[in-house]
Amino acid sequence: MQRYTFYFKIQKLFTHLFNYYFLTLDSENMDKLLDNGESLPLVESFYTIQGEGYNTGKAAFFIRLAGCSVGCSWCDAKQTWNPLEYPPVSVDNIVEDVLKTPAKYVVITGGEPLRYRLDTLCGKLKGHGLELFLETSGTERLSGIFDWICLSPKRKKAPRKDICSQADEIKVVIENEGDFEWAEENRKQVREGCKLYLQPEWSRSKEMLPKIIEYVKSHPEWEISLQTHKFMSIP
Ligand code: SF4
Repeated sequence: MQRYTFYFKIQKLFTHLFNYYFLTLDSENMDKLLDNGESLPLVESFYTIQGEGYNTGKAAFFIRLAGCSVGCSWCDAKQTWNPLEYPPVSVDNIVEDVLKTPAKYVVITGGEPLRYRLDTLCGKLKGHGLELFLETSGTERLSGIFDWICLSPKRKKAPRKDICSQADEIKVVIENEGDFEWAEENRKQVREGCKLYLQPEWSRSKEMLPKIIEYVKSHPEWEISLQTHKFMSIP
């Protein structure tokens, strides 16, 4: 019994030291640590159904990375904001977890996943024949190879023009009526054929959905995206 208590204490001490090491790294050092993209600060990964945007309804493995500097007030992933709370996980381990499922599609999301070099992760996933979807605010430099790029531009920090031109869909969150104008501004930045979605901010859905319906009826180039995973009570 005493031996177990001793081991337990040692294990706890190592966990504290490990967390202390990563929590005391400033973001510059963290970036250096992750620079080659061999490890990434993983918040969570899970196999579920993509609930929103063009790929709605597809079974997909989600990889959620930590860190975002945009700071949307209504963000439903605020727990991801501080990357220092998530010690790096090796890309090999992340890929191994994907391969335990029958997933054909992988969604890389965040936070803002483009804070990190995604070439290694994408290369290894592609090596297993998986299709890769990116969810991004477009505020960081693009890395990695993707089959589908979903750009969700945010008013607090406009997306980079080079990412706008590569987006396959834009998904604009509508929190208030001013966001329709923001949606149109972004529409001008994307290429012809890019899918255009308006999505009600979840907590304002009751007020905004009727307005979005009317907007789409009078501007039929736009479509409606709903967060169907929330209706299904799945992650
Ligand atoms: S860009 Fe996305 S992750 Fe970042 S604060 Fe906004 S909603 Fe949250």
